[in-house]
Amino acid sequence: MSDLRLRFAPSPTGYLHIGGARTALFNYLLARKEQGAFVLRIEDTDVARSTQESVDAILQAMDWLGLSYDEGPFYQSERFGLYKEKVQELVAAGKAYRCYCSAEELDAKREIAMKSGGKPKYDGTCRDRSDQPVDQPFVVRFRSPQEGETTFQDRIKGSITFRNDELDDVIIQRTDGTPTYNFVVVVDDALMGMTLVIRGDDHVNNTPRQIVMYQALGYPVPEFAHVPMILGADKSRLSKRHGATSVMVYRDMGFLPEAMVNYLVRLGWSHGDDEIFSMDDLIQKFTLEGVGRSAGVFNPDKLLWLNAHYIKTGDPLRLGALLQDYLTTEGVETAGGPDLPTVVKLFQDRSKTMVEMAKDSAFFFLHEVAFDQESVAKCLTAETKPVLAALVEALDGCSTFDADHIGQAFTGVMAAMGLKLGKVAPAVRVAIVGNTVSPSIYDVLAALGKAETLRRLRGAVAMIA
Ligand code: GLU
Repeated sequence: MSDLRLRFAPSPTGYLHIGGARTALFNYLLARKEQGAFVLRIEDTDVARSTQESVDAILQAMDWLGLSYDEGPFYQSERFGLYKEKVQELVAAGKAYRCYCSAEELDAKREIAMKSGGKPKYDGTCRDRSDQPVDQPFVVRFRSPQEGETTFQDRIKGSITFRNDELDDVIIQRTDGTPTYNFVVVVDDALMGMTLVIRGDDHVNNTPRQIVMYQALGYPVPEFAHVPMILGADKSRLSKRHGATSVMVYRDMGFLPEAMVNYLVRLGWSHGDDEIFSMDDLIQKFTLEGVGRSAGVFNPDKLLWLNAHYIKTGDPLRLGALLQDYLTTEGVETAGGPDLPTVVKLFQDRSKTMVEMAKDSAFFFLHEVAFDQESVAKCLTAETKPVLAALVEALDGCSTFDADHIGQAFTGVMAAMGLKLGKVAPAVRVAIVGNTVSPSIYDVLAALGKAETLRRLRGAVAMIA
């Protein structure tokens, strides 16, 4: 074990999105690589916007991606007593103060400040006020230093300096007594012993505000690494306009978790020109030095390419179990059909997603062939009828119903009738699959089994007038 302690600290106000998952992954990888600790903390201080549903969705997504944590999940909503104590400590030490300014007053002041070109920053009305109005709602503000600078060495972005007079007197406790993000994140990161905070660079501006609070509370300041944001193909910030942003929606669309992990890590991290990384590779190779300073660009085609790769190289047994779920979602009953790893083997080379595999292999399991009428009109004709009838005879005679014997039966019929496979196969496909697209027809028939193959071929023969 090393001393490295990392955390992922999502706010449960929605599903786990691409950016959050990448942050979680980077933390996880570094923790595993350095044999440090990875802590999960649910930041649910915003009681109105946090939901159990979101917590569950985040936990489920982390589980799906294989991002296991060593400690937690901790819930900030269970630590309100602690935060209150810390707020009181700061107030007693004169490092925070009660502010009685109403929202209307603050809005008015902000407007005036903006009009005169100033920063919309708290003007300090209550900073040095000595009276304590009773029965008047108040927030607690942190007394931020007004002079000097705050600098930190960001592990990705390098040295970053803010002038302290740019830092606001941040509200650390709301009128309802609940604490705010910038404060609790400091208390928790310190008390949970975080040594390095890896998070999205939308938090860069919060970091100096947090550093001055670490100092006020007498806590050691962790290191920071702010990961560049993720952009859509049009170079604007990734949003729903660019496609699904929820990680679990990708599972529903038939993506494998290893494809997602491989894809996420490359949104900002690189290792030479390598593109394919298993989780084990990543645990060995991941470094913050490999994280670039420019934004990652979301590229759905690349995700699809990776997914096709992992489907092609996946273990048929495991993919078979997954295929079962996707078929069930498609409403397909698999009982009595061919065994699923066999089906997977037929489709591994051609399916980009598991949903595509489920849709394309559904014909195996459907009692009624779903005929494409155009294919029927083109391929099930008076001309092909005798061919199909002859195939029924020949296949019925197969003692062993495997691809070799099926191939021999076909060869026999084709030789007798002077036909090539290009003429015969489309009609067989339509009879069996419903359209003219399928993996190798001999393999398909072998997987389907003799009885069902003959049933479907006879059905097609009977269909042709
Ligand atoms: N709850 C914050 C968020 O989801 C965490 C930020 C941080 O990592 O400090 O953005």
